[in-house]
Amino acid sequence: MTTADFIIVGGGIVGLATARDLQTRHPKAKIIVLEKEPAPARHQSGRNSGVIHAGVYYAPGSHKAKFCAKGVAATRAFCAEHDVPMETCGKLIVATDEAELIRMAALETRARANGIPIERLSGEDARKLEPNISAVGALLSPSTGIVDYGVVALKLADLFTKAGGEILCDCRVTGGFETEHGLELHTTQGMFSTAKAVFCGGLQADRLAKLFGAAIEFRIIPFRGDYFAIKNQPADLVKRLIYPIPDPERPFLGVHLTRKMNGGFTVGPSAVLAMAREGYGKTDISLKDLASSLSYPGFWKLVAANASSAVDELASAIVKRRYLTKVQKYCARIKLEDLAPYKSGIRAQAVSPDGKLIDDFLFVQTRHSLHVCNAPSPAATSALPIAAHIAETLLGHNGP
Ligand SMILES: Cc1cc2nc3c(=O)[nH]c(=O)nc-3n(C[C@H](O)[C@H](O)[C@H](O)COP(=O)(O)OP(=O)(O)OC[C@H]3O[C@@H](n4cnc5c(N)ncnc54)[C@H](O)[C@@H]3O)c2cc1C
Repeated sequence: MTTADFIIVGGGIVGLATARDLQTRHPKAKIIVLEKEPAPARHQSGRNSGVIHAGVYYAPGSHKAKFCAKGVAATRAFCAEHDVPMETCGKLIVATDEAELIRMAALETRARANGIPIERLSGEDARKLEPNISAVGALLSPSTGIVDYGVVALKLADLFTKAGGEILCDCRVTGGFETEHGLELHTTQGMFSTAKAVFCGGLQADRLAKLFGAAIEFRIIPFRGDYFAIKNQPADLVKRLIYPIPDPERPFLGVHLTRKMNGGFTVGPSAVLAMAREGYGKTDISLKDLASSLSYPGFWKLVAANASSAVDELASAIVKRRYLTKVQKYCARIKLEDLAPYKSGIRAQAVSPDGKLIDDFLFVQTRHSLHVCNAPSPAATSALPIAAHIAETLLGHNGP
């Protein structure tokens, strides 16, 4: 039996940021991260858009709004201190018709309520900034940036291990229970006992919560996000990130044109209901994951309420030209032959029994542990303040 003061399950960016935060508060504590993959950040943290979100979209007062606003500053400071490349390139959220202009006004109001720097532009002004983009109006978010969150996660892992922390890879947590004084965890590398545990399992968050008896009322439903890399286009195709005005009928932010830290651009991600939580090919199926979705009444309510967008997303996943029309709405010069394959990501989205996507970050506490139950975008941007919140909650300085 290996003993520890703190065990973190899950070596994604949230788990690693939490491990590092606890370590800086308790430098002498024995802290272990258990990660089932051969290396950290193999799932959501290594497969995302790489956007440092400014905090435009989130309901004022929500965890997302608060942690994202803090996360922008914290991520920038972390990158500056530890030589992680990042860039504050800004983003344009573009309206392409009158209906989108109305929704754009609501988005501007929300950004202002969140205290986020935002500037409204006419279509003409937007084209002056980005000549390859068509828009009838736009919002400019100057504080949005880009970074490779996989690199951020590995830097956190490096700092943590160099300061004496332990990361055990290829170590899957398979069961366990809470005791009077802490927790016992069964893993593929033996038994562990710890005073406190934090579960940051991403796509497996609901299963881990159930294994340890946490009271939860949601299931993780996986949404695959397909991207394409853009080829044959000039390096100055766009200087900023280009996002559509989000469609309130659809979850997630829509297919956007993103600059990458290593040069080049991607478009994506789509939002297709996935048949495997951790299978990144379009036809990957896990019978266990599929049964988990199909046996959940909330899944069917979600599908019934979003039938047309579910069909559209599926069709766009199969027919590339259909996907392209979403991009051509705002960037007509991107053609079918410019779309090259790119790695996809899968979002861990908590869905309530009534079929609603749980919008905010969700944490569930037990006597000696805390489960991160819903940490979708912008949780990579927000990882450092989320970690501080987890540490303070676990150590009793925050409400549950
Ligand atoms: C397509 C896509 C685009 C996104 N774009 C952005 C963006 O631009 N900006 C942004 O801020 N956010 C974005 N996000 C969200 C962001 O990537 C996630 O919020 C963040 O990475 C969540 O980190 P995590 O550590 O909670 O989860 P993960 O990175 O998924 O890590 C969970 C870890 O737990 C491990 N694990 C699970 N079960 C066990 C077990 N039983 N035993 C041991 N280990 C286990 C897994 O192997 C995994 O490594 C995006 C997400 C996706 C999918």
